[in-house]
Amino acid sequence: MSISSSPPRKRRVAVLGATGAVGQTFVRLLADHPWFELAEVAASERSAGKPYAEAARWIGGTSMPQSAADLTVLPCDPRQITSEIVFSALDSSAAGEAEPAFARAGHVVLTNAKNHRMAPDVPLVIAEVNPDHLGVLDAQRRGRRWSGAIVANGNCASIVATLPLAPIQQRFGIEQIVIATMQAVSGAGYPGVPSLDILGNVIPYIADEEPKIESEVQKFLGTAEDGAIRSAEFTVSAHANRVPVEYGHTVCMSVRLRERGDAAAVQQAIAEWRGAEAARGLPSAPGCPLVLSSNPDRPQPRRDVETGRGMSVVVGRVRADPVFDVKLVAVGHNVIRGAAGASVLNAELMVRAGLLGGS
Ligand code: NAP
Repeated sequence: MSISSSPPRKRRVAVLGATGAVGQTFVRLLADHPWFELAEVAASERSAGKPYAEAARWIGGTSMPQSAADLTVLPCDPRQITSEIVFSALDSSAAGEAEPAFARAGHVVLTNAKNHRMAPDVPLVIAEVNPDHLGVLDAQRRGRRWSGAIVANGNCASIVATLPLAPIQQRFGIEQIVIATMQAVSGAGYPGVPSLDILGNVIPYIADEEPKIESEVQKFLGTAEDGAIRSAEFTVSAHANRVPVEYGHTVCMSVRLRERGDAAAVQQAIAEWRGAEAARGLPSAPGCPLVLSSNPDRPQPRRDVETGRGMSVVVGRVRADPVFDVKLVAVGHNVIRGAAGASVLNAELMVRAGLLGGS
């Protein structure tokens, strides 16, 4: 037997909606990825046929990776995409039809769009929280006669809220949660909210956001049973606000516990939590998915959003709540932890679990 010293071949991946705010974040995160090679980018007919450098108005911070700049943007047509792994950053107006078409054609679609998140046979996964929900994929493939699959990411605010709730649910159980969000403008994509609406202002409404947060937190913390996800039974009430912050959603939560616990015990549960074993050590996994701050005026998006390369959620102000049991504040990066970074981590989890075909 000969032993090769060459590194394993990278898997080719595609990004749908590659020109938008989340799509550009995928392009940036995939540029130097140790397991994946960005081979294909796709977007609307407006962009298809153009070089990526021309089609995307780059807002991704550091300069556009040269390997992506030279790619030609493809239409979102499964017959023109060859990569098995397809990251989707499509607008929901396109994702509803396009993503099942890709799954039917044998692609594994890791989506950020809202369209398929709440279907009981679609796993809504945070790698450190509920990797076992990927177990419903067999039922999804059988039931829908797909050779591929759809795996969903939550809404960006739901992901930031769920991460600190996970250790609380695991240690104490949760009965009720009230959530108030202050969400960054980049959460609305590019070009997003008009500047004259948001500068110096707070908008107390984001279309469809509150029901999404309420139902997705329950689904993330639910259980996978008999090929379907059963949502957790606690109740959630969400207020969603848009604020003039560039990146980073702030989430304030009051939580009623099922079992007795005070602020110190909740703080300890959060500080000790490392998330599911299955996600530890993956290339995109942060050392600590939750970072607890003892500083009285943290977390803040400007100071904390890049923690763990944008993959950690920073939690602070864990204190007693005179109406519920405890209250706390969390900040997370909406396009990394809340979107592209979380999808890439889910794909890594699937590679490790042997849930993807090609090597
Ligand atoms: P965005 O900046 O508006 O980008 C939308 C992307 O979809 C663009 O690449 C656009 O391509 C493409 N697209 C639009 N209509 C299309 C069509 N008919 N056919 C094919 N492609 C089409 O939006 P975003 O903020 O990146 O969000 C992308 C998705 O992620 C959305 O579903 C959003 O709800 C979700 N999400 C966003 C965030 C966030 O923080 N921004 C977080 C979590 C989830 P063209 O450039 O060619 O028009």
